[in-house]
Amino acid sequence: MKKYSLVVVGGGTAGCAAAYISAKYGLKTLLIEKNSYLGGSMTGGLVTPAMKSADLQINTEFFNEFIKKLNSKNAQITYFDGNIGWFNPEIAKIVLDELLINVGVDISLNTNIVRVDKYDKTIKSLFISAYEKIAVEDLSVPIETSDSNYKKGTLSTPIETILYSTNNLTTEIEADYIIDSTAAQVLCRNLGCRFIDDNDKKQPNSLRFIASGVDLDKFLPFILKLDKDRNATTGGYINGTVQLSTACTWDKTWALTPLFKAAVEEGVLKEEDTSYFQIFTIPGMPTSIAFNCPRFSKTAKEEDLLFSSSLIIKSRESIQRLILFCRKYFPGFENSYISSIAPNIGIRTSIRPLGRYVYTINDLKNGRTFDNPVLRSNYPIDIHSEKKEEAQLEKVMKEYQLPIEALQSADYNNLFFAGRSISCDFYSQAALRIIPSCFSMGEGLAKYLAKLSNS
Ligand SMILES: Cc1cc2nc3c(=O)[nH]c(=O)nc-3n(C[C@H](O)[C@H](O)[C@H](O)COP(=O)(O)OP(=O)(O)OC[C@H]3O[C@@H](n4cnc5c(N)ncnc54)[C@H](O)[C@@H]3O)c2cc1C
Repeated sequence: MKKYSLVVVGGGTAGCAAAYISAKYGLKTLLIEKNSYLGGSMTGGLVTPAMKSADLQINTEFFNEFIKKLNSKNAQITYFDGNIGWFNPEIAKIVLDELLINVGVDISLNTNIVRVDKYDKTIKSLFISAYEKIAVEDLSVPIETSDSNYKKGTLSTPIETILYSTNNLTTEIEADYIIDSTAAQVLCRNLGCRFIDDNDKKQPNSLRFIASGVDLDKFLPFILKLDKDRNATTGGYINGTVQLSTACTWDKTWALTPLFKAAVEEGVLKEEDTSYFQIFTIPGMPTSIAFNCPRFSKTAKEEDLLFSSSLIIKSRESIQRLILFCRKYFPGFENSYISSIAPNIGIRTSIRPLGRYVYTINDLKNGRTFDNPVLRSNYPIDIHSEKKEEAQLEKVMKEYQLPIEALQSADYNNLFFAGRSISCDFYSQAALRIIPSCFSMGEGLAKYLAKLSNS
């Protein structure tokens, strides 16, 4: 059995910030991640750049260290608008390893939680195991076994059917505090926690990809001339390399709209491919472009999406059409090719667990202040929708704050959450989910726990 002050489950955006700050501030910290790399949506979802947030942001220690290290590896730029959050998602994997190891976080990759022990309202210990070993055991050992080395897990989800070994295959972890930063609320679900009841509202998801072999010096003047009013385009040279961003969505008319219409008429694209198109350059990848699309217009339940091969396959078909479109309609893309498709779907909303405080859109719009805020931001309310009239990008009038209580479980004393799935309503989540805010949540929560631990 191993003992930690803090166990962070989910090594993604918020989880990495939490683990880093926790270890830096003296807590013995374990980070558990199901994938073989850290970063979650930022790396596995190819989500880049980190959106610009408030100038007066708080809890930015991790973000600044992340950016500094990326920059030292030629994997970050500061954009024209002063946004420091333009980064390379592949190099981010390496940077996160280095940052977290340097402050002494124990990192457990490819790891699955097979059981949770609790008493009353306190989580006592977690049992973890390597994913692959579990899969092998799962296949090779019958569910009903007389082998005394095996017994059945106590969780109530698909994990329930997994048999785990009492001989070396699992490790028991005791923890004072636990953060569920899995975004899918894996722990909260399995512990029977309560959830906020507006979870029927969903935003579409996306499968992001990268195209390489792009002549950006050729594409830049084309797009700047086409979008001469700069409605959706920014671009130019930073440190001698082209950096740009452009977009086209179906709910408005943009400079690129006639090209998309022509491509649909010609059969190069399908109507559904035109719902949302956004591209960004990537620091350190001088011939590549990151696509924030295709988007799934049909919003399904997250469970359906996570397990639905058909939606993922349809998205990959769409990616093929999009690259053909770019080759045909964008000067500079003639020799471009798909170089990477995100291993993970990009999911915008999730079920949200009930915390000691439920943050609402009114708190956000009124810029309500709190005694213990974990973040300050002014990022707009950004709702993607399959219905044109429901899509929304609403600026906020005042900077807003999020209280620590929205990250504290209402059901378990030592359970916390951070990231895009926290105790808030659907509309406020649409503003809170961006990368810098997830960083601030993880950091603010870790600082709070370090203080609690030392008091
Ligand atoms: C398509 C799309 C585009 C976006 N674009 C932008 C953008 O341009 N800029 C911006 O700032 N924000 C953007 N966002 C928002 C932002 O990327 C996410 O909201 C944010 O990164 C989520 O962080 P998180 O920590 O909550 O989850 P994640 O970063 O997804 O981390 C969750 C982690 O938990 C792990 N995990 C899951 N289950 C388990 C388990 N059972 N055991 C262990 N680990 C587990 C996952 O593998 C993952 O590493 C976008 C989001 C989407 C979906």
